Amino acid sequence: MNYSIFDGHNDVLFRLFLKNKINVHEDFLLGDNEGHLDLPRMEEVDFRGGFFAIYVPSPEAEVSSSDKPIRYDDMEKDEYSLPLPDLIVSDQALPIVIRKISLLSQIEKHSQGKVKICLSGSDLEKSFHQRSLCILMHIEGAECIDDNFYNLEALYRSGLRSIGPVWSRPTIFGEGVPFAFPNSPDTGKGLTSKGVELIKHCNDLKIIIDNSHLNEKGFWDIAKYSHNPLVATHSNAHQLCPHTRNLTNKQLDAIKETKGMVGVNFAPAFLRPDGKMIAETDIQLIVDHFKYFIDYLGEECVGFGSDFDGAMMPKNLSSVLGMTPLIELMVKQGFSEGLMKKLCHQNWLSLIKRTLK
Ligand SMILES: [Zn+2]
Repeated sequence: MNYSIFDGHNDVLFRLFLKNKINVHEDFLLGDNEGHLDLPRMEEVDFRGGFFAIYVPSPEAEVSSSDKPIRYDDMEKDEYSLPLPDLIVSDQALPIVIRKISLLSQIEKHSQGKVKICLSGSDLEKSFHQRSLCILMHIEGAECIDDNFYNLEALYRSGLRSIGPVWSRPTIFGEGVPFAFPNSPDTGKGLTSKGVELIKHCNDLKIIIDNSHLNEKGFWDIAKYSHNPLVATHSNAHQLCPHTRNLTNKQLDAIKETKGMVGVNFAPAFLRPDGKMIAETDIQLIVDHFKYFIDYLGEECVGFGSDFDGAMMPKNLSSVLGMTPLIELMVKQGFSEGLMKKLCHQNWLSLIKRTLK
């Protein structure tokens, strides 16, 4: 049985952007066999779409000599609490965001109909069943949006349909969680007054709001002010891995109450009971987080939130091709055909349809 996958979070645009070359859309479309994702490998495992993140890196060096983010060195320790990077101003972030939107547009334009940037729930459903790769444009950290919200309308017109008000960094809208273990996600202040305004604008435009990098106070502010189902596109269960990036049972109660969604993240630091970012990590832990969420939330509020090309992966899941053994493992452990379809794409498609309308 082949299960088509729609995923809550990937950073392939960031990976391609770092290559700093022209016509980099060809690397994606023809397949560069680097990182975790490109179109041929996605097609091979029927990975048919997801939230494609547009992320602005902090100007301080992000990558160490061993080709991994510097913060990963600290995240191999028994305990850690990394400082939040500085705020990035809108004028600095916007050109990078525009370049990534252009890259997405190039990918779609040169794909001969194989890739579709989806603008509505029905658009997504149609393209998904026509077997296109379906892209939902997501901004991870709303640095590029100015305090008058002039840019928001233009970004919406360019295809933006999902926003995380913060990455793990402050913005004028709120504050993200620092990477800390073991630690509660209650690490700082909630949304600013501009953050509350952003939520209202997103509700009006029907843009999904992502809680994944928010601290707990920010999460409760979104629960208070947003009319939409609560979403965490790529976060795990705090009960199994007490990391700041993961969700407490109280947060899960609120997600369940609004018929929202959680995407299970594959990064070792958010899976492992010891919070370590090390590749030597069993993919059984991914299944364990699924089981926990299904027990706690029911079958309708959980899906994938891989973080492919945005984080380290367990060594047996070193690219999207590892989805096949992962799905086999889930089936072997008793996940029914009906449940697998929900987890693989139906739950995300339903959430997007209900929010974008
Ligand atoms: Zn993220």
